[in-house]
Amino acid sequence: MRITTLSTFRDFKCKAGDCRHSCCIGWEIDIDEETYKSYMAEPSEFGDRLRSSISADPCPHFVIDENDRCPFLNSSGLCDLILNLGEDRLCDICTDHPRYRNPGEIGMGLCCEEAARLIMEEKGPISIVDSGIEDDGEYEEFFFEKERKKMFDILNSAEPLEKKAQKCLDIAGAKLEEFKRDELYGFLMGLERLDPAWESYLAGMTEPQKLTPSEEKIFSNVAFYFLHRYLTQSVDEEDLSLFTAFAFRAVRIIISVFQGTKKRSEDLLDVLRMFSSEIEYSDENIDKMIIY
Ligand code: SF4
Repeated sequence: MRITTLSTFRDFKCKAGDCRHSCCIGWEIDIDEETYKSYMAEPSEFGDRLRSSISADPCPHFVIDENDRCPFLNSSGLCDLILNLGEDRLCDICTDHPRYRNPGEIGMGLCCEEAARLIMEEKGPISIVDSGIEDDGEYEEFFFEKERKKMFDILNSAEPLEKKAQKCLDIAGAKLEEFKRDELYGFLMGLERLDPAWESYLAGMTEPQKLTPSEEKIFSNVAFYFLHRYLTQSVDEEDLSLFTAFAFRAVRIIISVFQGTKKRSEDLLDVLRMFSSEIEYSDENIDKMIIY
């Protein structure tokens, strides 16, 4: 079966050596069992380097260096494992990242600066399109497909984001709590953190202010991304309400953090990227944020 994606992500291409914040820095990457076995049995000269860069304790993973870099990320920003063994020898996480997968669809996580740039620069309506990827699964329409489709249509309309958010929340029977800057700041500072730089972004958080027309479009795109990524996890109305509120809470936090910066496009790119890596890629943080 062909799986779908957001039209914005159709032309995604990893920036590899040109990436400023490579996803091969800052976290330990776990290796799936099958790939681990193939690395342990690799007969070429590269096999020795491979084995000396992997630890099996507590589960197989690449041992990052003192600068938190993957041991195979070379000084040109390229992957030595791909260069020596080929892309088809990557483990599952390295093959998939920064993609997220829902039943029958994929998208690109905003922790990747290229995915964040595509969302920021999307000027037209976003649609669901064929990703060009074949999958052997059979997928049925997910439980709240019709509700999500209505929300997507609303987000593609020209109304102010505030009105669009309210309409989507109404569809889901959800309510967003009052924005209390200090309370939210305290909550965010209490979460697990990956990058200390996120703290200085949080310190600048402001009450959300009026958006410019181009910001209205960008943050509607960001809401589209969160609804696409999370609503398929809803199995009942309570979930739908929780995930929808989470999507707009996330957008509101991103706006608040961005408005505390110099508001350049590189600031927005950083805020999107860091929000995603700090919150979306920590199971603990995202669970807390969803039930906030
Ligand atoms: S963050 Fe994105 S663009 Fe950068 S190396 Fe990873 S996948 Fe490529």
